[in-house]
Amino acid sequence: MLITIDSQATSEQRAQLMSLLRRLTGNQRPVTPVRLDGRDVIALDGSSFDEATRTLLTQQKAVERMLPIKTPYKLVNKACKPEGSTVVVGEFLGGNVVTIGSTSAPVIIAGPCAVESREQLLSTAKAVKAAGASILRGGAFKPRTSPYQFQGLGIEGLRLLAEARTVTGLPVITEVMEPDLVETVAEYADILQIGSRNMQNFPLLLAAGRNSSKRPVMLKRGLAATIDEWLLAAEYIVAAGNPHVILCERGIRSFDVQTRNVLDLACVPLLHELTHLPVIVDPSHATGRRELVPPMSRAAIAAGAEGLILEVHPDPNSALCDGRQSITAEQLRSIVRDTRLVAQVMSGEEILSYVA
Ligand code: PEP
Ligand code: MN
Repeated sequence: MLITIDSQATSEQRAQLMSLLRRLTGNQRPVTPVRLDGRDVIALDGSSFDEATRTLLTQQKAVERMLPIKTPYKLVNKACKPEGSTVVVGEFLGGNVVTIGSTSAPVIIAGPCAVESREQLLSTAKAVKAAGASILRGGAFKPRTSPYQFQGLGIEGLRLLAEARTVTGLPVITEVMEPDLVETVAEYADILQIGSRNMQNFPLLLAAGRNSSKRPVMLKRGLAATIDEWLLAAEYIVAAGNPHVILCERGIRSFDVQTRNVLDLACVPLLHELTHLPVIVDPSHATGRRELVPPMSRAAIAAGAEGLILEVHPDPNSALCDGRQSITAEQLRSIVRDTRLVAQVMSGEEILSYVA
């Protein structure tokens, strides 16, 4: 159930509503208003409320509207915002402002898997910008399967990302793995990335939700997460106070080892039914093979993804991380061209001009 609080309600009326809700939930579940689009809303599981209780709630002076939502996730449910939400990126750290989730051209996020050096990052940043990307990616803290692999440059990597933003104007996205580092990463990054391995790291989700600068969060799907688990992870971030969440499908584990993961493209139109959050796709981690990245990029946009995140390296074969799935800036340029065309066809423009 979603309760929208009347903005005209007095503090007494609000307090009355809160104490009624606490009583109804037996003081056992969190009942906290969250600010969404300028309104205070309370999400809670009202499945056990009978008719009389619902009527009592609607009679409360502080209640403007009650929306029954049966799914376990409430705030990210499509019913909460049927027109879909957009996430504005890059407003506060001096880079360009980019909107994710609009129906215009797909947003392309590109850059190396890991920030390896100043030279590698700056040359890649300039090249991906020239190829048509509007956001730069680069891992400073890397979640590596083996402790003996390159772990990222850490804070130095964050400084280099900030420098790359100053040089190119591209807002930057980078992964944060620890709750205690959320505030630090948010000082440098325009988007916080929560990686697949951390999708259900609840303290991290809460810290990203509470981050004081309200940096947008890109939440990658867990290696073997169901869509409901993923949406509930997103719900944690929104319920903690940060509505700026982007979902990223990056493939799920299956039995076939030919590709690194299995890209679940059906989840894109499905998510658009279930949630108002924007959805982007990561064909690099989903396939693990650079030759599959262009066709899967086109397919992702055809499936309705609002953007792509792609790994690009100046010399993919010498990359310290994920070289096999990294493409060159030249390959990125063709992906940008092709996906723009696909998006145009999807919007009907191409078809209409052809028919005309
Ligand atoms: C990444 O984007 O570099 C990454 C580690 O991705 P994932 O969490 O999807 O494996
Ligand atoms: Mn990677």
